[in-house]
Amino acid sequence: MTDQTKYVYDLSEGDVSLKNLLGGKGANLAEMNKIGVPVPDAFTVTTQACVAAMNNGGTWPQGLAEQIDAGLSRLEERTGKTLGSPDKPLLVSVRSGAVFSMPGMMDTILNLGISDDTVEAVAALAGNERFAWDCYRRFIQMYGEVVEGISPHVFEDALTAMKADRGAEQDTDLSAADLKELTRQFQELANRELGGDWTSDPKQQLLRAVNAVFASWLNPRAEVYRKSQGISRDLGTAVNVQEMVFGNRGETSATGVCFSRNPSTGVKELYGEFLTNAQGEDVVAGIRTPRPLAEMEGVLPEAFHELLATMDALELHNKDMQDMEFTIEDGKLYMLQTRNGKRTAAATVKTAVDMVDEGLITTDEALLRINPADLDALLHPGIDPDHTATPIVKGLPASPGAAVGALSFDADDAAERGGRGEQIILVRYETTPDDIHGVMVSQGVLTAHGGMTSHAAVVARGMGITCVAGAPGIKIDPLGKTVAIDGVVYGTGDVLTLNGSTGEVFAGALPLVPPSINEDFEKVGRWADAVRRLGVRANAENFEDASKARELGAEGIGLARTEHMFMAADRLPAVRKMILAENEDQRAAALAEILPMQQVDFEGIFTAMKGLPVTVRLLDPPLHEFLPNLVEQSVLVKELELTGADEARLAAERATLAQVKKLHEQNPMLGTRGCRLAMLYPSIPDMQARAIIRAALAVLEREGETVGVEIMIPLVAYESELKAQREIVVAAVEDEFAKAGKRLDYLVGTMIEIPRAALTADQIAREADFFSFGTNDLTQTGIGISRDDAEAGFLGAYVDTEVIEKNPFESLDVSGVGQLVALGVEKGRSTKPTLKTGVCGEHGGDPASIEFFNSVGLDYVSCSPFRVPVARLAAARSVL
Ligand code: ADP
Ligand code: MG
Ligand code: MG
Repeated sequence: MTDQTKYVYDLSEGDVSLKNLLGGKGANLAEMNKIGVPVPDAFTVTTQACVAAMNNGGTWPQGLAEQIDAGLSRLEERTGKTLGSPDKPLLVSVRSGAVFSMPGMMDTILNLGISDDTVEAVAALAGNERFAWDCYRRFIQMYGEVVEGISPHVFEDALTAMKADRGAEQDTDLSAADLKELTRQFQELANRELGGDWTSDPKQQLLRAVNAVFASWLNPRAEVYRKSQGISRDLGTAVNVQEMVFGNRGETSATGVCFSRNPSTGVKELYGEFLTNAQGEDVVAGIRTPRPLAEMEGVLPEAFHELLATMDALELHNKDMQDMEFTIEDGKLYMLQTRNGKRTAAATVKTAVDMVDEGLITTDEALLRINPADLDALLHPGIDPDHTATPIVKGLPASPGAAVGALSFDADDAAERGGRGEQIILVRYETTPDDIHGVMVSQGVLTAHGGMTSHAAVVARGMGITCVAGAPGIKIDPLGKTVAIDGVVYGTGDVLTLNGSTGEVFAGALPLVPPSINEDFEKVGRWADAVRRLGVRANAENFEDASKARELGAEGIGLARTEHMFMAADRLPAVRKMILAENEDQRAAALAEILPMQQVDFEGIFTAMKGLPVTVRLLDPPLHEFLPNLVEQSVLVKELELTGADEARLAAERATLAQVKKLHEQNPMLGTRGCRLAMLYPSIPDMQARAIIRAALAVLEREGETVGVEIMIPLVAYESELKAQREIVVAAVEDEFAKAGKRLDYLVGTMIEIPRAALTADQIAREADFFSFGTNDLTQTGIGISRDDAEAGFLGAYVDTEVIEKNPFESLDVSGVGQLVALGVEKGRSTKPTLKTGVCGEHGGDPASIEFFNSVGLDYVSCSPFRVPVARLAAARSVL
């Protein structure tokens, strides 16, 4: 049976609906062609062909080579040119193009079809001999590197030597004869590198180039980028074979990149760069620092105005900001690529809000366009505007934000140090996609070369990494690991501050200030609130955090931990007295000292949250944390014994040691935690319940309004535990009400953070007014991995080697731990249909987890204050 699959589409056969098959670039080229935008003719090899080859050890599916051949013949017919023809040669580019754009991560080959047979004709047809040899030497270099895997320095060294010999500053200073000679040198070098195996037949070259583009889907930088962006490896890349147009045919030719709005700020204004007499690669690869687009009006006015009109048309058609590549050949404009532009978080929010105002998109569409992580990024600090430092140099503001870090001069080093948590500024001559692993973990990137539309800048903006590009006059010595800026030499340990919004670079660390939230940000929050079903609360345990959370839109507190209320230095003596007490009376006396201090803490939280519900969790940690360390205490007692210290002191320290030994646990994480402690010391929950109620009443008195009190019992495994704890709490609360002669509505509930609690949720619900899923512990106990040890240990390796997809402490393990949550909700509600359910823990601020919590019908999520806007948006997106 023959394979009937269609692997090759002519330009006119495609459109944007075929993006999965044709890749983003191919589908958009076809779409542009369809709506009348000038695009060089082309055909596209599908992603399906790439996947088929990839799944078959690189062997092409049957019929693919023939279909490419037929596609080429049709292209030759339409263009009236023939690949390899000495009269009317066709030159093509062979371009990668994935479904989701991956700027610069894969390979592209330009000028294929130029050869000893065709170079003269190319020169004659263009009336420009220099141009023909420029194309030829570029082709050998690109094809040699990409397809044959020859090291770039082989060609670069020859080019540098030629330029030095001719006293040429720029590539463009080389003459036709120079370039011809360079081409001959390149040919010889390439052939030598390959042991005489250089392929010179363009048809063969075409097939090999297509194959190389397929293979580039699996190259390391593409892998790193895909992983960081969550793009599946199974998608494959399409390959576009497109007739060349030439921006390097002289001064009436040019090439460039432009955006329909400013991708740093989102403002609708002219944004782009161009170079005359150049090929696109020079701009996007950051090889030459291009000129601002505005200057093109003076150089090529007609093409400039046509470009502006095309930009508008493409944005209108795609209803999103466009990132476009164009080339002008002898005054005539061609579009070579358009895609929805990668942009900063600020630009994402601004363009979405502006486009709603302009009537281009709906508010729901706007919400779907803004990634929750974008809001997160907007909450990052910026440089204090009142600083008085003078910049040491000013480059191009390629990706905004503030970055403070120690210098690194190569990507591997940056990856290593950044991975360890060091704040890094990566300093490079120019950044290439090969640096991606280092860029990703850096605070900021500083380059001596390259513009604002280079791949490096595009990627940095997309990832929210600050970048100052093309800083003039800085001298980088990558081997010596130094950079000289304005005569001062900075090395690896030195710290710089980058302002990616202005391009300024400062010596040392400038002070940072919290971000100011703008009106657009708030508008998006309001749109999200209008559609979401899930409530959003915050985890906060003091006035400042609670106030911040409220300002960011929290509708209450889902988790106020009380551990620190025992840990603070002024309380520890009383807490130790409580633990070392010999009877309940002594213990109660010690707790009575702690009560007023806790009450003050609660009053702070309640004041910030008045009118909203607040869940206070009673004490959770292992008791031994309040006592001295076992080893240290043993050493101390030994010392006192040896030095013959006074008896009373010795007796006291021995008593402490005995307690420490008694409380010592091999496995504290599975030890006397949560309510287990309260079961042993009932006076603790009694005291805490009283402090909570006194605080709530005091705030009511003072502010005329108080919070909805929710008292939460931690780490319950048995219904009987919760029953006992509830009785203690209720008795204390009612006693306080009776004393005060006032009462409030309040709830008593529990955390579900042990599998047994989830499995018996129907029983536990009899004693609970609410459940809060403590997914940190539920992950730990459900998978059986320690949250303190695993992340540094095997868990990282598991994620790296894809044994598991994501770190389950960051994003909920939906198919495992998630099922415990789903079951807990279902069983709990089967007993008590009105049971309130929520989640606290890191997952409450993770968009993917939030989507799951929405799907299992939780009432609210609770997360740290700065995640609140993220959670509001994620909750909205999960119902859209
Ligand atoms: P990337 O994804 O790395 O940007 P592209 O396929 O877009 O790769 O090509 C790299 C550069 O080559 C771009 O600047 C592009 O505009 C230019 N280019 C690609 N195809 C052609 C062509 N047919 N004619 C002229 N320039 C081209
Ligand atoms: Mg491109
Ligand atoms: Mg817990």
